[in-house]
Amino acid sequence: MQSVLALVDCNNFYVSCERVFNPKLKGRPVVVLSNNDGCVVARSEEAKAFGIPMGAPAFMYEGLFKMHKVETYSSNYTLYADMSRRVMATLAQFTPEIEFYSIDEAFLDLSGFTYMNLTEYAKKIKETVRRVTGIPISIGIGPTKTLAKLANRLAKKNAMCGGVFDITNHPRLDDFLSSVKVEDVWGVGAQYTKLLNRNWISTALDLKNANETWVKKHMTVVGLRTVLELRGIPCIELEDLNEPNKQIIRSRSFGRPVQNLQELKEAITLHTTRAAEKLREQKSVAFHISAFIETNRFKTEEAQYSNSAGCYLPEPTAYTPLLIKYALQCLERIYREGFKFIRAGVVLIDIVPEDQIQLNLFVPSRPLKKDKSTMKAVDRINVKWGSNTIKYASSGLEQSWRMKRAKLSPRYTTNWDEMLEVKC
Ligand SMILES: [Mg+2]
Repeated sequence: MQSVLALVDCNNFYVSCERVFNPKLKGRPVVVLSNNDGCVVARSEEAKAFGIPMGAPAFMYEGLFKMHKVETYSSNYTLYADMSRRVMATLAQFTPEIEFYSIDEAFLDLSGFTYMNLTEYAKKIKETVRRVTGIPISIGIGPTKTLAKLANRLAKKNAMCGGVFDITNHPRLDDFLSSVKVEDVWGVGAQYTKLLNRNWISTALDLKNANETWVKKHMTVVGLRTVLELRGIPCIELEDLNEPNKQIIRSRSFGRPVQNLQELKEAITLHTTRAAEKLREQKSVAFHISAFIETNRFKTEEAQYSNSAGCYLPEPTAYTPLLIKYALQCLERIYREGFKFIRAGVVLIDIVPEDQIQLNLFVPSRPLKKDKSTMKAVDRINVKWGSNTIKYASSGLEQSWRMKRAKLSPRYTTNWDEMLEVKC
């Protein structure tokens, strides 16, 4: 059976999310800024046309924003994550085999649907997502993931495609490949681009026709897979979604530099709380926790200190109070006075399914059942009434260190108080 994969990509996703709830942004230049309103992380087509690059530092472009009346937004991850969930749930109605690749991209296995006109089917998917969620998407179809990615790119570039492009068995496949730069091929990074260009490989077509032995020698088997995928031979499978994360990291930069231990403790508590929630969500427990703190390495005139410390827990657990206790001990070990910290976070590793806990012979076991039911109750309340309804005292009440989000849009879809109001 011929393998057929589709890559669905939301167009300018964060901007599109803002537009769903604020139609006056339609046709206007819009950008969304990263944490602390630092850099541009999403641009509308109109903003791209003014030459605002991805990653542009907001303070350097303030003049240009003013001149062209560019609308700027703080990133509203609560909104984006929920919109992403809606898009993905809609896509999942169209095929049982789906990989949620990133917040705004998914691979769909359409191999079982080849009896239909796949371009028409993809158009139907596109219309449905638009109608149900308000988000515009583009769909690329190909026999491999790499070609589906490439087809998606072509779908976006050519207005004539109407946002859908099927490259499978296309008579002009090589023409298309020769129009794509090798660095724009999925999986070809900046380092390999230099190497390839030095060896006269500058387009996707050149890479497709490259010598296998040479590629394997210089780009390992991973590079070879890309070459074969460009030739239409599937080498990269859909990821198994049910595989839980082997590592959970929670960290954020602060809204302002933080010096005192108390505030760092609040931040570490909050991150540990979130990491533990994730852990329980995937029905796992962790054996090892570490905490880290960092100063701003770009401020070279300031004293620099970054460090992390970790420890094994007496037993693997997902019990938040216990994780917080150990995370704070780690923090105390690395904390030094007199530095301006800009980021803190926690990392959970050595994660195993909760039903495979190895008990410790040498320390009395915690009342696992009681821990579990306590956490279940807390999680339920926080899901129902909002994520901070029950929180840990050590996370602080004011949290004035939290990141700057001066231009945050409302959480339209996840908070009753911030729903869209319609005036009649
Ligand atoms: Mg996108």
